[in-house]
Parts: sequence; structure tokens; C-alpha cells
Amino acid sequence: MRQALSLKAGLRFLLLFGLSVGIANKGQSDGLFTGSPCPVPLILDGHTHMGFSSATSGKVAAESLEYITERGYRAVGFGMPVDRRDLTDLPATLADEIGQLQELSQELETFTLSRTPEDVMQACADGKLAVLLTIETFDGVFGTEPERVDRYEEMGILSITLVNNEHDRLLDRHERTAELTPLGRDIISRMNAKGILVDITHLWPQEMLAVVAASSQPVIASHSNPQGAGATNSPLFDEVIEAAAEKGGLIMLSFNASYLFREGEDQIGAINRLLNQMDHIRTLVGIDHLGIGTDLQAYGQYVPDELGRTSAIGDLQAAMAERGYSPADIQKVLGRNFLRLLGEI
Ligand SMILES: [Zn+2]
Repeated sequence: MRQALSLKAGLRFLLLFGLSVGIANKGQSDGLFTGSPCPVPLILDGHTHMGFSSATSGKVAAESLEYITERGYRAVGFGMPVDRRDLTDLPATLADEIGQLQELSQELETFTLSRTPEDVMQACADGKLAVLLTIETFDGVFGTEPERVDRYEEMGILSITLVNNEHDRLLDRHERTAELTPLGRDIISRMNAKGILVDITHLWPQEMLAVVAASSQPVIASHSNPQGAGATNSPLFDEVIEAAAEKGGLIMLSFNASYLFREGEDQIGAINRLLNQMDHIRTLVGIDHLGIGTDLQAYGQYVPDELGRTSAIGDLQAAMAERGYSPADIQKVLGRNFLRLLGEI
């Protein structure tokens, strides 16, 4: 699935992306440039859930994708909404769902399944949402069969969140440390070899560190917020952020209210809270390791209104500029870093 870039595809990517960056640097006032359907910055979201029902429920998928497009996103990590009752052969179930998603994309012509930076830029040029397939589910991801990784690669899966009820099989946890089991090590190295991003979100801190150390490729925390900046229930400690950044990884901030507010707290000032977390990571490891993974669910559940309304991305950009983020920095956080990583793995 992952092939070396053809010269033509590479040139097309450079042309499209170079064009957007060049024009962005000339004028950032409205965040858009004329003469191309691609906005600047391109908004790429590493992690969403498009509803809890199966992708076969085309209505939920279609409406959720419309919801996210209306909010200005151009590419989204689409957490495959696997029917949890059928886990005997998860890759087969997923392949079936992906096939139906593919059919829906042909029927609607509003989105397209994507995998590479060139795909994303082409989708944008075509005025379509780029859907990047990801897995975050609770059971049956690997079973005891590391070769399932190969099947996921064949079906174009971009990333897999390691948390699930199997993670005890992948990692041995001790009081202060954790280590990968032989199966866990095998799975990480296969994911590395196949260009599937390892997502450390939701693991315990010591497990995150063990996975980062074992991975030969950059890892992502696709929807994780720093505990050191107010995400009190998040296991993302500064030590993990530093280790992930050292490997070239990306911390993608979730917009989920539970990472921005304490339970029962009034959800006011969500953008400000998010920016405090962004500032924290920028100070700790630099702008090149930041992204967004909104964790948007179907119809915006669990995301505070300030970050879920149609003006949210525009409001966020304005607030970032006010805090001193340059146009280039804003582009990096809201999409360019993620796009870069897609090309690196
Ligand atoms: Zn999650």
C-alpha cells in the first residue's frame, strides 16, 4: 500500500503544498486564498469518531462527515466504528466496513478515502474531505496474531491506538516501569515496517514510555492533552511528551471537554484552556510536535460549544495569533505537522 512516491505525485504535492504555503505567507487575513479550493491553513484532524454504530449505518457516517466538513476540516482521522459484537475476525469486519465506506464515498462524492499527503492534497484540490482510516477499539485488534498488522496495512489503515482490552498482552506493567512482551514488540516492529502509526493515547505513562522507546518510527498521541497544563485526568506527562518529541512524534490535542475542564465545571473559555495546553507543549518541545486530534464524536458530543460550533476553527486561529503564534506556526499545528508525518512514515 505504501509505495515510494512517484515523481509525478511528488511534484504535484510540492506544487499544491508549496503554492498554499507561499500564498499563506503573503496574506493571512482571512485564512483563505483565492484561485484554489484549499484553505490556508489546511485543517487536518488526526482523530474523530463518526458515531458508535457501524459504518454500514451510512446516515450517521454521511451526516457526521458533513458536520465536520462544515466546520472547515479538510482531512480527518476516521476512527472505524466497528460493531463490537463481531470480533471473531476484526480485519474481515473492518474490510467489510471500509468497502461500504468506499461505496458511500462514490455515492456522495463529498469525501474520499486517503492515506498519503498527496492523497490529502488531491482531495483538497478536488473539494473533498480526506478520510484517513484509523483504529481505536477495545477488543480483538491483534488477538494473538501479529500478522493482522499486514492485513490492516493492506486496507490502508493509518494508525492504531494501542489501548484496548488486549494491552496486557502487549505490555507487562511493573510498579514504576513497563516493558513490551515479545508479542507487543513484534506488533510494534511490524507497524513500523508497514508505515502504520503507533498511537500511544490512553496507555499508562510507563507504557507510553516503553512503546516510544521500542518504536523505530515517530509515534503519535492522537488525542491526548498534557496533564502538566490542566488535563488532570490525562496520563500524558511531560516526560512522555519529551520522549515522543525526541523520536519526531506528534502530540495531537483533543477538544474533548473532559481534557479541558474538571467534572461539573462550567465549560467556559475552552479555547483559552486549549491554548494553555498548546503553549505548554510548545515551550516544552517546540511547535513541530503539535497537532490536533479533536476526538469529535457524531454530531459534536462531548466537545464544548466554543470548540464545536461552525466558527470554532476560525476563532481558534484568531486566538492563536493573539497569543503570538505566527501564520507558519498556526499552519503547523492545525495541519502541516501531521501532513509532514504522513510523508515520513
Ligand atoms: Zn480515545
